[in-house]
Amino acid sequence: MKNCITCGMPLEKKEDFALGDENAKFCAYCVNPDGSVKSGEEIFNGGVQFFLSVLGGDKSFAEKITRKNMSQLPYWQEHSFESLHGDMATDEEFQAAMARL
Ligand SMILES: [Zn+2]
Repeated sequence: MKNCITCGMPLEKKEDFALGDENAKFCAYCVNPDGSVKSGEEIFNGGVQFFLSVLGGDKSFAEKITRKNMSQLPYWQEHSFESLHGDMATDEEFQAAMARL
């Protein structure tokens, strides 16, 4: 199975892929309508909203989980952005959060 290289989301169905293109490396949420990849800050904010809605808790926790998630993706090691740097969830916190998705 493939995962989106910018947010890690599993790409399972055709609709999950950017622009419905099953050869795409990105998910439908990480690209703009013209197919360009969103900025790190936009994808980070989307991740925070996602984890807040699924996990509940406070925003700083959702930010720590999002930061951990995105920091593990090679794409962001090459395309760093400001919000990538800061408090990060521990491996245990991250795994516990992933288990609740
Ligand atoms: Zn994505």
